[in-house]
Amino acid sequence: MDRFTVGAARVHRIEEWAGPFLTPELLFAGFDADRYAETRDAIDAAYLDHATGAIAARIQSWVIEADGRTILFDTGCGNGKSRPGIPVFDHLETDFLARLAAAGFAPEDIDLVVCSHLHVDHVGWNTIKVGDDWRPTFPRARYLFPEADVEYWDPANRSRFPDMVGEAVNQGFFDDSVRPILAAGRADIVRGSLDIADGIRLDPNPGHTPGCQTLTLTSGGESAMFVGDVLHHPLQILNPDWNSIFCEDAAGARAARRGVLDRAAGSEAILVPAHFAGDHVVRIGRDGDDFRQLPAF
Ligand SMILES: [Zn+2]
Repeated sequence: MDRFTVGAARVHRIEEWAGPFLTPELLFAGFDADRYAETRDAIDAAYLDHATGAIAARIQSWVIEADGRTILFDTGCGNGKSRPGIPVFDHLETDFLARLAAAGFAPEDIDLVVCSHLHVDHVGWNTIKVGDDWRPTFPRARYLFPEADVEYWDPANRSRFPDMVGEAVNQGFFDDSVRPILAAGRADIVRGSLDIADGIRLDPNPGHTPGCQTLTLTSGGESAMFVGDVLHHPLQILNPDWNSIFCEDAAGARAARRGVLDRAAGSEAILVPAHFAGDHVVRIGRDGDDFRQLPAF
């Protein structure tokens, strides 16, 4: 599903990277072998290689056209960035901007960039290299960064956060993909909830990182929730207490995930996670206290 509508709003999926990622045993901090055996057969092969156990993953961004705005939600890994903590994305080179163009958008068409949170795979295309400098990729855009993540991930503040989980894997992103936007005066720091435009709202959803934020798009009686990494894989719909190994606050991440699933089930919203393969977007059904994956369309 590369294109869908939410009422009068239009949403375009821009894929940066596709591949197998870790196995569930390695990705999920709360992995339970018995629960996996009970739930894995419910997962379509488009999301999980049942022969090898590898999770099918995507790095993808979303362009939202609504209320006269053109918003890029999450910006992937970016090109040419040094990522010693996660070799698969080290000096990645993709044709992401060509794919954005194929969807109908030049960099100057984007008027707002929203990062669901500040992690290495959600901020990369914020900047491109010009000479020796990292410059904003989207020349007309303001960039919305959550305050809690700006404080948490700035290496200058490292001593304030002794229990940080993701330092190694996220090495480098702040200085090449966040600080240049701050220095260029292009960032707006988000504190709490924010109404971006009519039917476009940001709400804090901390846990995976302190600054995680959900964008809810509402139009014509329909809605979609862009939730970033509140969940990485459909197995977490069936096992909502399974965090990823990249979650900073275990209890907060579980609460955020259950909250999102509860809201999506209650509102029949389209759920738009950052890394789902398969159809990329889903809806959520409820069986008593349990949740299940439904097709979005
Ligand atoms: Zn991610």
